[in-house]
Amino acid sequence: MPQENQSTYTYILAGGGMAGLSLAYYLNQSNVPFESILIIDQAEKNTRDKTWCYWSDQVEPFDSVVEHSWNQLWFHSFDNRSDKFSILPFSYRKIQSDSWYTFIQKELKQNPKIQFVQTKILGFSYEGRFAKVQTEAGEFTASEKIFDSISSFPCELQNSQHLKQHFVGLTIEANFPIFDPEAAHLFDFRIAHTTACEFMYVLPTSDRIALFEHTYFSGQLKEKQHYLDQIKAYLVGAYGLEEDDYLIQEEESGIIPMTMSDAEPQNLHTKIIQIGTSGGFVKATTGYSFLRTQRKLKELVANIENGALDAPVNETKPFKKWMDRVFLQVLIDQKIKGNRVFESLFQKNKPQLILRFLEEQTTIWEDLKLMTTVPTLPFMQAAFKIGLADLPFPKK
Ligand SMILES: Cc1cc2nc3c(=O)[nH]c(=O)nc-3n(C[C@H](O)[C@H](O)[C@H](O)COP(=O)(O)OP(=O)(O)OC[C@H]3O[C@@H](n4cnc5c(N)ncnc54)[C@H](O)[C@@H]3O)c2cc1C
Repeated sequence: MPQENQSTYTYILAGGGMAGLSLAYYLNQSNVPFESILIIDQAEKNTRDKTWCYWSDQVEPFDSVVEHSWNQLWFHSFDNRSDKFSILPFSYRKIQSDSWYTFIQKELKQNPKIQFVQTKILGFSYEGRFAKVQTEAGEFTASEKIFDSISSFPCELQNSQHLKQHFVGLTIEANFPIFDPEAAHLFDFRIAHTTACEFMYVLPTSDRIALFEHTYFSGQLKEKQHYLDQIKAYLVGAYGLEEDDYLIQEEESGIIPMTMSDAEPQNLHTKIIQIGTSGGFVKATTGYSFLRTQRKLKELVANIENGALDAPVNETKPFKKWMDRVFLQVLIDQKIKGNRVFESLFQKNKPQLILRFLEEQTTIWEDLKLMTTVPTLPFMQAAFKIGLADLPFPKK
């Protein structure tokens, strides 16, 4: 809880979810001077509300709370071709949010300068050189900055031109051993019967327990029952599991924006800085953001340490941004089924190259090579539609 009568803090983290808590963690480990940090969240943040996965070929900050990892990934095409790839030296890692919240809060609570308050944020304002946040528990002031991970990102749920990654997932425990915990199923497109990009995502963590997520990359959301029915049908079709053969342990759902903001990148001169999903940290073409958020926030803290206040906070290289815009347009246009693009990529390239590409770690030459392995016509049409305004060249 905040100290009695204290209402001014060096930094305020508005939202103590994945991005807010990660930033507090890096600030706490850094040489950035601060008198106090306040983390505000309306929720208690101790539940298993999310599963975060990421891939890496390095040691990453939160590997100690990884529940399970895989060195092999299955890829299933619509036409029933199934390939199991080794992704070494990468591994695909899974973190349960409740373990992560516990780990990070334990770490942060050891520092008396870091305080938490559970309340609803109502808005933000400025007074002179101070930024303020209004909450149901009163007003708090930041002498340095407010980091906002609660504001909505421009992505309208009802707008079918605004792509979303939407899914419902069930973790089930089968009555008998049936899964292979050595390999995850990143994409199972055998279920992709509509023109939207849809697939099943399967993460077996033991021979009896697995998470199944029916996922769409599309503009139109579905009723919850639809995703659940799809999962149940898949369990019968792919594993022969009838409802009596398993128990549902957990359920999760998400709607992740797959849109890109036209806002100028912020820099650290700004008093209220958006981070996390609010700050556009989600990779629009994949919906992944856990590892990107860690990388961006570490860089942001290093910039504060070095006084590099002009450095843009959320920058993706223009060419990468342009490729993402084109791919999103291909998914919106649906002139080709989304699965065809992923199938071409995975059938014609090494998985390690694709994983580096999706993490924006490939060179421009590798990007150009990858572009030659996707169906050309829909991409050219999409690039034409986006128009010259978005070409990745300097504008006057
Ligand atoms: C179910 C699910 C699974 C996901 N899986 C993956 C994955 O496998 N890999 C990956 O890379 N990404 C994944 N993502 C995407 C992304 O990593 C997460 O959404 C991530 O939690 C985003 O971090 P964030 O801090 O921006 O938002 P959040 O973690 O949601 O944090 C925002 C916080 O703000 C608080 N808040 C909101 N409004 C208010 C208010 N008015 N007042 C006070 N507090 C408020 C919320 O309680 C919340 O704690 C997943 C998303 C979901 C929903």
